[in-house]
Amino acid sequence: MIFRERTKEPLPLARIATLAQHRGVHRAFAWLHLQEPRISSWQQELVAIPAPPFGEGERAAWFADRMRELGLSDVHIDEAGNALGLLRPDDGQSHVALLSAHLDTVFSADTELDIRQDESLLIGPGISDNGAGLAGLLALAAAIRHAELQPVNNILFAANVGEEAEGNLRGMRHLFTGSPFARRICGTLALEGAGTEIVVTRALGSRRFRVEITGPGGHAWTDSAVANPIVALSTAIAEISSRTLPARPRTTLNVGEIRGGTSVTAVAQSAEATFDLRSTDAGQLLLLEVQLYRAVEDAVMAANRAGSGEKLQAQITLIGDRPAAELDPKSRLLETVRAVDRHLRLRTEERLGSTDANIPLSLGLEAVAIGAGGLAGGVHTTNEWHDTRGRDLALRRVLLILLDLCGHLEAGNEVAADSPGAGEP
Ligand SMILES: [Zn+2]
Repeated sequence: MIFRERTKEPLPLARIATLAQHRGVHRAFAWLHLQEPRISSWQQELVAIPAPPFGEGERAAWFADRMRELGLSDVHIDEAGNALGLLRPDDGQSHVALLSAHLDTVFSADTELDIRQDESLLIGPGISDNGAGLAGLLALAAAIRHAELQPVNNILFAANVGEEAEGNLRGMRHLFTGSPFARRICGTLALEGAGTEIVVTRALGSRRFRVEITGPGGHAWTDSAVANPIVALSTAIAEISSRTLPARPRTTLNVGEIRGGTSVTAVAQSAEATFDLRSTDAGQLLLLEVQLYRAVEDAVMAANRAGSGEKLQAQITLIGDRPAAELDPKSRLLETVRAVDRHLRLRTEERLGSTDANIPLSLGLEAVAIGAGGLAGGVHTTNEWHDTRGRDLALRRVLLILLDLCGHLEAGNEVAADSPGAGEP
């Protein structure tokens, strides 16, 4: 085996090859391969439990029950609503590696969660995002328990709340700032949807706003001169949407929702819309935010100049803030991902995304969001699908990365007798 001069740590590829030869790791791989029907049934069961933003409680409780069944330690729901469990009892001070998957969906509580299966194809809202990630999380916990793997660092399994939209990453924020594990998490893998080669290493920054314009309103005929919030809001939307945004650094703006007014025969008293601003560059994001504020102020001023009587008022509320950040290209975690992918003959697809990994990355900690296998489409629609074929390859990949993040397994258990234990000179 080739070792690095300075650290006496084996080079990444050799380190991963040794890890993959471990008897216990083989047992875990076999579990992942043979138990696909069980993983798929967990996935269908959990996706049938509604988990709208700020309504993840029932799904979290289901998840905690499964964690207890698998024999995880200290299983509980924390103050933020995250379902947590550990590989072994927490000593309150050692490092832990975090494996997470978000519980929440973009679908409202009344969305019909009709899940269908056609062999390896699963169909239904949230089946991949993040049914695939959550099922993968349970599968990995089960495989590690089944194989009785005992890495140096403990593993914190977290089915977390608040990843989508206005959840604003609150589950992750809590884990990294307010929880007993904050400052002890040595690395994070956030399981996110399908995919085998995907790894999100750059966190896309986003700022989300609700714009509400209010006024006196009135009768469509007798108060026709009164300024109309719907007109002012529409003017602001038309102005901000007509701007050409840079392709590099990629910057986008979406008007996601609009509502207002009460009747066709009334001048509206209020109108509101939500805006999602994203950029890979913090400066462009700020510039676009300034332009949004200006577009709203200009439209309200113009409406007030033209109208008579009481003036319109605008209120802009920040409803989402996700920091932009990037995993250091020289980080140990990225080196591990690349080595695992080479070992498994996968092509590492580094991506940019807005995920739970944004929080640790913005704190300068090593984290990636990673696919839980198979192929998916129609994400965030009610026709979402997930073809689970090849899932076990992706889960083997995540397992190797996770175990490497946790430090070596106890020595003397390798399949090949001639491979020296990690760390030996
Ligand atoms: Zn997701």
